[in-house]
Amino acid sequence: MRDFLVAGNWKMNGNSTANAELVAGIVAGVPEGSGFSLLVCPPFPYLASVVAQAQGSAVKVGAQNVSEHESGAFTGEVAPGMLGDIGCDYVIVGHSERRAMYGETSAQVAAKFQAAQAAGITPILCVGETLAEREAGTTEMVIDEQLDAVLGTAGVDAFATAVIAYEPVWAIGTGMTATPEQAQDVHAHIRGRLAEQSAGIAAGVQILYGGSMKGENAAGLLTQRDIDGGLIGGASLKAEDFLAIANAAAQAK
Ligand code: PEP
Repeated sequence: MRDFLVAGNWKMNGNSTANAELVAGIVAGVPEGSGFSLLVCPPFPYLASVVAQAQGSAVKVGAQNVSEHESGAFTGEVAPGMLGDIGCDYVIVGHSERRAMYGETSAQVAAKFQAAQAAGITPILCVGETLAEREAGTTEMVIDEQLDAVLGTAGVDAFATAVIAYEPVWAIGTGMTATPEQAQDVHAHIRGRLAEQSAGIAAGVQILYGGSMKGENAAGLLTQRDIDGGLIGGASLKAEDFLAIANAAAQAK
């Protein structure tokens, strides 16, 4: 019913030569079959060249962040329209590193989500709890606050053209992965939260898992009922590692 999306968040890594090799490797190794798509999210300076290199292939390109503003005096920011202009299809909003290190609030993330959609870019909304929040039993409360900020401003119908990524903060870049059951529980909760407002939108929205996903654990996660792909950091920086997850997605279909 829902296709898989396997998305690589390169974060602040790479250079022209390494990126060209990485994209060439991914493009050459896209698994046969259907029911999944691949996405890479390079740093801003490399977006246009990766878009050009990926053109005509099954690999889409997205950004890692975007301004909530359309244009104007916002030094250092990148407008959603600019991403569309150079051929980006997606943008990650509300990654936990941006929430924690750059003070992005849920309200600002919601504004970025809406600004991206207004420019025709599909936002990938990241939500997730810290270890302290999980241990305090507040995982669902935290996720609800992050989701509700977007639901309250953009409305549930906006999720017809959006992706959600559940990324437990304690699993990002730590090597600790949520078990398939832990991830499935939260994915089901997220889908249920949307279903309170629209069963149809909830059934169609892709919910990705992110947090130390790799070839070895991908199949267990991707065969869960409410997990529709992955947002991958570390394992997206080598073509063979990223393709191992892509292959798991192709086989899970
Ligand atoms: C991420 O930063 O979105 C992520 C999931 O990173 P990693 O795969 O390295 O945990």
